[in-house]
Amino acid sequence: MTATEKPHIMRVHAERPAASAIERAALTIRAGGLVAFPTETVYGLGANAFEESAVAKIFRAKGRPANDPLIVHIADIDQLETVAREVPEMAHALARRFWPGALTLVLKKSARIPANLTAGLDSVAVRMPDHAVAAALLNAARRPIAAPSANRFSRPSPTIAEHVLEDLADKIDIVLDAGRTAIGVESTILSLVDAPARLLRPGGVSFEALRELVPDARYAPLTLDEGSPLPAPGSMLKHYSPRARVILFQGDDIGAVHAAMREQIARHRRVGVLTSDAEAGAFEDDNVVVIGLGAGAEQAARRLFTALRAFDKAGVELILARAPEKQGLGLAVWDRLLRASAGSLVEV
Ligand code: AMP
Ligand code: MG
Repeated sequence: MTATEKPHIMRVHAERPAASAIERAALTIRAGGLVAFPTETVYGLGANAFEESAVAKIFRAKGRPANDPLIVHIADIDQLETVAREVPEMAHALARRFWPGALTLVLKKSARIPANLTAGLDSVAVRMPDHAVAAALLNAARRPIAAPSANRFSRPSPTIAEHVLEDLADKIDIVLDAGRTAIGVESTILSLVDAPARLLRPGGVSFEALRELVPDARYAPLTLDEGSPLPAPGSMLKHYSPRARVILFQGDDIGAVHAAMREQIARHRRVGVLTSDAEAGAFEDDNVVVIGLGAGAEQAARRLFTALRAFDKAGVELILARAPEKQGLGLAVWDRLLRASAGSLVEV
């Protein structure tokens, strides 16, 4: 395929994708190509997880540093043994409860997984996605698929196929377009190679739900100290970033938080405000573009990345985001906003 023919975009039904489209995409995976496909969290950029050269194409397409490992997607529990070794009983218990679903487990890697996929680590991140298109593709490909989010490195993750095309159009072979993803933020990552288990990234499965099965799981939220070691490989602070600078505002006194946000609005030409629908009405200034994230954490998660990209299109120079409650999916939204802001957190 020449660069100008790329990518081939196939619109598919989210619950019953046409077999012909799936077969063509699976063929591309087996031939070592790149396929962007929907999952319940965000769109993934997929390649044959067993083929080092195919995996290398993912890093190149995204501009992703080699020290940031990928997630492997599997079709069924039998495939887990081809990806990981010495799988503990807790992993099976978690899989029974949360798979298919937005939980990624870090386990010891199998010899079949190439070193570039795990950034040289002896562990591998794996999950079984809960989306009919992803499941059909995995089944038809008959091998695990390595797939990070289908965005350029450090950009907001894609929740619609258009986001994939914005970032990667000329770099991938096929895009399976099944509309908007249901959850909107990435999977929760839990490391079972650490004892006790360690939450590496909050995401689509809440920490509260995880702790029902793993009561001693630990979570050390991101620290903002300069030079502190990364809490997990690849979890760098600046991430998910729109082009405009983001400042995150946190505090219980709504009046004081709004006053602090207004000070910034007064000092800039064109400002984006990201907040709940309930508070959106407080920002009606001419130089402000307000995006409401709806009501509640689930809606906020679904809308977050689209909103960050929309601010870029609106040409704002600064984005003021209101920090959500850290419960349920709110913890994942908070984590993404903190990273989008590269740590610019104002506590009021
Ligand atoms: P993405 O698929 O783009 O959401 O990114 C995958 C993320 O999974 C990486 O950025 C890492 O933070 C994490 N990850 C993948 N493999 C491992 C591993 N072996 N150990 C720890 N974290 C991992
Ligand atoms: Mg990503």
